[in-house]
Amino acid sequence: MTPPRNSTAARDIAYALHPYTDHKAHLQNGPLVINRGKGVRVYDDQGKEYIESVAGLWCASLGFDNERLVQAAAAQMRKLPFYHAFTAKSHEPLVDLSEMLIERAPAPMSKVFFANSGSEANDSAIKMIWYMNNAIGRPEKKKIIARLKGYHGITLAAASLTGLPANHKLFDLPLPGFHHVSTPHHYHNARPGESEEDFATRLAEEVEAKILAEGPETVAAFWAEPIMGAGGVILPPATYFPKIQAVLRKYDVLFVVDEVICGFWRTGNYWGSQTLGIQPDILVCAKALSASYLPISAVLVSETVFQGIAEGSSSIGTWGHGFTYSGHPVPAAVAIETLKIYDEADIGGHVRRVGPYMQQALRERFAGHPLVGEVRGTGLIAGVELVEDKAAARNFDPSRKVGARLSKLGEKHGVIMRAMTNDSMGFSPPLIITEAEIDEMLDRVGRALDELAVELRRESLA
Ligand code: PMP
Repeated sequence: MTPPRNSTAARDIAYALHPYTDHKAHLQNGPLVINRGKGVRVYDDQGKEYIESVAGLWCASLGFDNERLVQAAAAQMRKLPFYHAFTAKSHEPLVDLSEMLIERAPAPMSKVFFANSGSEANDSAIKMIWYMNNAIGRPEKKKIIARLKGYHGITLAAASLTGLPANHKLFDLPLPGFHHVSTPHHYHNARPGESEEDFATRLAEEVEAKILAEGPETVAAFWAEPIMGAGGVILPPATYFPKIQAVLRKYDVLFVVDEVICGFWRTGNYWGSQTLGIQPDILVCAKALSASYLPISAVLVSETVFQGIAEGSSSIGTWGHGFTYSGHPVPAAVAIETLKIYDEADIGGHVRRVGPYMQQALRERFAGHPLVGEVRGTGLIAGVELVEDKAAARNFDPSRKVGARLSKLGEKHGVIMRAMTNDSMGFSPPLIITEAEIDEMLDRVGRALDELAVELRRESLA
């Protein structure tokens, strides 16, 4: 349907180049224009209401109308709308937020560096590690091991960490020195009869073999999301990370945890690291750090990493890295207010109540559905994977775009959903969602799923 002339949709087609969009299709179909939000809901330019089952991009943790965050931004803009942190300049929001993050870290951390996005934070962490190893006289220790289906962003280095084909060969990536090991997804990748425990042991052995094959003196860091998000909401076996952590310690390889999705109560603990048993040396966070009302991300580093970076000033030259907006006072003030709200509103207690409710409801409603292969998740993050053959755990041919079709049907039924690899639907609603809203959301998802099943049955008969 062609949008009316001069409408927002028509002008979008005329002028906007979108992230992650099929632009050929977009020229025909145009955008879904969202123009306001309230609680867990957003409204399009026609006034139609949707429940946001993914909180935007896993990020609008406090929903779409939090007045305290608006006031925090306005107050900071009146007081000091911009200042930077280069050459030892500072300001109160930067210091307060750094202190709050260090106090809340899942393992002893020493210092905080700010950036604007998850990608920039991951790039910054890579550069910290490379700079540190140059500074302390081991310039050969630079390689990084990440995982297939991991997602760490799209800048050149962060996209190299990412383990999804669409982010690699189409862009001449990954850069040299980035390696990828297996995805810890028991459902698809375990051998016949292999227990979760044996699967975890085998994957930890794979990491060790990789380190030994490359040479431990050349491997600097291992990178992981506690629960893979964009790769399809993939939870590893319970002992997977502790086993890997032991391997990394043996070879002096840093553990960098990417908490961009899992941080700030998403998994039922403050950090995904706590849910999955990780003791990070470096922690990257973003998204729910500011409830996504303004862009800000952070890299927390251990004292050892900080000492290595500090060493550089005298051994190799000043730490030449930072963004104009590193620690920008306005997003920092919003992040401070966000962290206060998490504490004061006991968002953790709330997630621990409604998270199990959502998990159970998802399983009760969808695990037996003919199109659903696996329902997985914990806290307020879940994946529902669509399959063509339930018994064989076989996905649909990607060219059929079954997940994208379900998202489209979801829009019709009033729920915004997100389809990822293997037609896995990601659920990550605002952390403030209630049990009644979860029911309403899943009613709508169910209607979309049933409609999809009817369509697919019709196609297979045709
Ligand atoms: N890491 C993870 C785990 C993410 O999910 C994302 C974004 N979805 C990123 C990094 C990149 O963040 P950004 O899009 O802000 O660059």
